[in-house]
Amino acid sequence: MRDDGRQTVRYPQGNVLLRNLARDFPVITHGQGIHLFDARGKRYLDASAGALVASVGHGNREVVDRIHEQLLRVAYVNGTHFTTEVTEALASRLCTLAPPGLERAAFLGSGSEAVEAAVKFARQLWVERGQPQRTKVIARVPGYHGNTLYALSLSGRPHYKTFFGPLLSEVITTPAPYPYRSGLEDYARDGAEHYARLLEETLRREGPDTIAAFIAEPVIGSSAGASPPPPGYFERVSALCREYGILTIADEVMCGCGRTGRFFASELFHFQPDLLVLGKGISGGYAPLSALLVKQAHVEEMRQGSGGFMHAQTYLQAPAMTAAGLAVLDYFERYDLVSHAASVGAHFQRKLREVLSPLPFVGSVQGVGLLAGVELVEDTHSRRPFPRTRKVVERLLAKLLERGLVLWSNTGHADGVHGDLLMLGPPLIITEAEVDELVDTLSRGIRQFFQEES
Ligand code: PLP
Repeated sequence: MRDDGRQTVRYPQGNVLLRNLARDFPVITHGQGIHLFDARGKRYLDASAGALVASVGHGNREVVDRIHEQLLRVAYVNGTHFTTEVTEALASRLCTLAPPGLERAAFLGSGSEAVEAAVKFARQLWVERGQPQRTKVIARVPGYHGNTLYALSLSGRPHYKTFFGPLLSEVITTPAPYPYRSGLEDYARDGAEHYARLLEETLRREGPDTIAAFIAEPVIGSSAGASPPPPGYFERVSALCREYGILTIADEVMCGCGRTGRFFASELFHFQPDLLVLGKGISGGYAPLSALLVKQAHVEEMRQGSGGFMHAQTYLQAPAMTAAGLAVLDYFERYDLVSHAASVGAHFQRKLREVLSPLPFVGSVQGVGLLAGVELVEDTHSRRPFPRTRKVVERLLAKLLERGLVLWSNTGHADGVHGDLLMLGPPLIITEAEVDELVDTLSRGIRQFFQEES
């Protein structure tokens, strides 16, 4: 039921292969700012910016007009023959903002594709350098890097892999820092040392000269509910990778593009990766777009070797996509959106902890800036998760949707099977008053849900 007592209207679905075949989906007709509206006029507060995508909000006319202008000029050119002003401008602007040395950008259509391109770039580089045996990539668990086969192989999310084994055997794993489930008495003090030691054990066991790259999300997104690293973590693991000649890849698909209050999340944690991947908020959802940033020095090695990076896709560097990225970046700068995200994000984190932490069944509230996760547990003392058969987070999400609050969820992070996570990441344009409304609605929804359960 809605707040006003009327029934939420669902629509019979047609031919679309929807993700969840067990229920119908509301039909969204339009969006404005942080809100979405369905065909019956019901309003939803989009507390997860879709899938952490709608950085500049919905229905953003300034962005749409800029894309429209580019589409009238030229929507598509073959990226293996031509470049365009708009693609060059976006690459130049991103590389100016990026951590040192990242001076070349490629544009693709999704986070998964950019991750694939990143690991392929790393592997090609080792072949060019005469070390073709460096084929393995170290990824972390929990972690998420996408759903295409290589990106899925790199992802520490067992339930996504259920039907797809055997996956790529060249991926090896190491534990990722997740404070709520680290088991460490003093995570902030000992975390960096602990996880760096585990990484070193892994790479020694595998043989460092068989390893091409190490990939990590600066803030772990969907697989561990916006979990930031312990202090000093990226300094330690980067030093290890340097010592063993392993390339580092920052996956900022979820945490990049201003969400942490810095344009690049790597900056916040003193991580200077060799390759960096962006997606989601880079185009705010106005076009499919992701980016791979690499070092000029590495590109030069390839130029002098085989001649270039052996990677091509139909939509590589397509102007219809990069126009969206450039329009969004201009919007970020015009409205100083990264500083806005930093200050509203600080309020968001405070408010979430203050209001949600005391609630029953809330185990952990964590995050940085406008990216947050809430872990729900059956027992907050032992941190025992709910049995997955209860589908707690899925049912809570459905209740919140009835209240007009859209969140994202994740499951299976606690031990690969159990675990109920709520993911929050509203559009970066959200105001403090809207944050208060969001958190209060969420808190009322959680209370009511668990009252009805008991
Ligand atoms: N990397 C991270 C950190 C992500 O969160 C995601 C998606 O959620 C991806 C990669 C994959 O991006 P996409 O779904 O656009 O392929």
